[in-house]
Amino acid sequence: MGKLLSVVVPCYNEQEVILETYTQLVQELERIVLRFDLSYELIFINDGSRDRTLPMLHELHAQHKTRHLNSRGEIMILSLARNFGHQIALSAGLANARGDAIVAIDADLQDPPAVIERMVEKWQEGVDVAYGVRSSRAGESWFKLFTARLFYKIVRRLTRVDIPLDTGDFRLMSRRALDVFNSMPERHRFIRGMIPWLGFRQEPVPYDRAARFAGVTKYPLSKMLKLALDGITSFSNAPLNSAYWLGMGVAVISVLYAVYVIVGNILGLNQVRGWPSLMVAILFLGAVQLITIGILGEYVGRIYDEVKKRPLFIMDERDSRRNP
Ligand code: UDP
Ligand code: MG
Repeated sequence: MGKLLSVVVPCYNEQEVILETYTQLVQELERIVLRFDLSYELIFINDGSRDRTLPMLHELHAQHKTRHLNSRGEIMILSLARNFGHQIALSAGLANARGDAIVAIDADLQDPPAVIERMVEKWQEGVDVAYGVRSSRAGESWFKLFTARLFYKIVRRLTRVDIPLDTGDFRLMSRRALDVFNSMPERHRFIRGMIPWLGFRQEPVPYDRAARFAGVTKYPLSKMLKLALDGITSFSNAPLNSAYWLGMGVAVISVLYAVYVIVGNILGLNQVRGWPSLMVAILFLGAVQLITIGILGEYVGRIYDEVKKRPLFIMDERDSRRNP
């Protein structure tokens, strides 16, 4: 048996789907590893579920070898001490995966297991990151679709990383891509932005996103907003610097207004005495304050960049042989 394929599945209160997910994943994986001569490990991370998810996982773990006699795979159960949220749970799974290629997939069968095979094909061709792109999405509300669209538009505008549209966390990563990802210690993790940031060879794998197999979404509006905020603030300091541009705008306005007041005074047009000069002073001082906050923001942004401790560069190839 050749290389190892890891599949990482974060699970939060998924008792309605977990058995079906296991069954479909194992069926698919046994076929894939046979075709490419691999073995696999299927890693379930229980993200502090309060339902029967964890005992069910333990049961699957105990029965795996009897259910699948000649299985080329192992089941691994990781359980977090409480609910840490999807992005952290996924990071925990990725940090513990030992595979030469690693697939991250949701537990609710919205990411069809059949797509993994096409991702593995890409990996065999030398692609480092094969990411799923949703060409259609079934069973999601217009509100979710609309807000998702809007969010990715804003992120793309504000940040310098090219985050592909309609991409979630369903993707395959090569070992070297995952090693760099695991070395990024930032605490607010927006995984679908961090991985495009890595570089290497990344290619899309289009698929039709299914509706949730059973159960309800574990991403209420509050969690979605938090993810959106993490996405923008992890990859952009634009909000921090906005005070600077606002201040510049107010400064221009106050100067124009001052000119108007002075010229008006000379021409004897202004009736109210004292008020225009007061306004000019207030506007101008306000502008100075905003600009100063903007400058502070610039430095805070730099401190923020430093403490994220991302690698400075990521090497793709290194050929140090002597020239012939
Ligand atoms: N999830 C998790 N922790 C959480 C919320 C979600 O591990 O706090 C998992 C969940 O079990 C699922 C995946 O993250 O496997 C995606 O969640 P969900 O399907 O509810 O999100 P949606 O597809 O509705 O955006
Ligand atoms: Mg889902």
